Amino acid sequence: MSLASGTVAERVATMRARVGEFAVAAGRARGSVAILAVTKSQPAEAVRAALDAGLSDVGENYLQEARAKYADLPPCTKHFVGHVQTNKAKAIVKVFDVVQSVDRLDAGLALAQAARDAGRRLRVLVQVNVSPGERFGTRPGDAPELAARLRAEGLAVDGVMAIGPLEGDVDAAFATARTAFEAVGGTTLSLGMSDDWERAVRHGSTMVRLGTAIFGPRPARERSPA
Ligand SMILES: *Cc1c(COP(=O)(O)O)cnc(C)c1O
Repeated sequence: MSLASGTVAERVATMRARVGEFAVAAGRARGSVAILAVTKSQPAEAVRAALDAGLSDVGENYLQEARAKYADLPPCTKHFVGHVQTNKAKAIVKVFDVVQSVDRLDAGLALAQAARDAGRRLRVLVQVNVSPGERFGTRPGDAPELAARLRAEGLAVDGVMAIGPLEGDVDAAFATARTAFEAVGGTTLSLGMSDDWERAVRHGSTMVRLGTAIFGPRPARERSPA
């Protein structure tokens, strides 16, 4: 691995400072925006380096990848941010503390069942689709009803996650996510990635999901595991 852990520590320190400054500039408390380190395609040592540097939230899109990587981490909160396949719900509940990407009822029902079987309460976010190019996510207008159904199933719905558009009107997309968050309720608006986190903070994000800003560029993927 080409990235020294010192580099990860430096990037974490830089991003914590910048996110805090941006929050203050947006009239919010310095500590009001958490950083979720998105660890896809990064090795376990890099994940540890981010935790050692003071982060407490890590996230993965790929269940397969997280299984081994997240097995022996120091205490932290593990977020699933990938597409939820219903037949993987049980395994997802085993590995992760929070599922940010519940975008339809059948995924939620499968997770609720898995959480009941595991005897735990599962924290989830409703993933809202605010970008034309994005495949997943419920329609923003449908988010409150989906949240209500999920809560009736015993899931702890704590807010909204959205992925911004690569091009086009990012501000409009983020404003839509914010409106959906206000309708859904909860404490977490997971919005903003390495390229658009500043704007997300301005739109009320309480959690930015940073991959390359923390770990550097990802090595090219040879395949896309589920
Ligand atoms: C990869 C990914 C991120 C982080 O992306 P960067 O641009 O590297 O910061 C955040 N959220 C989701 C859902 C992702 O898949």
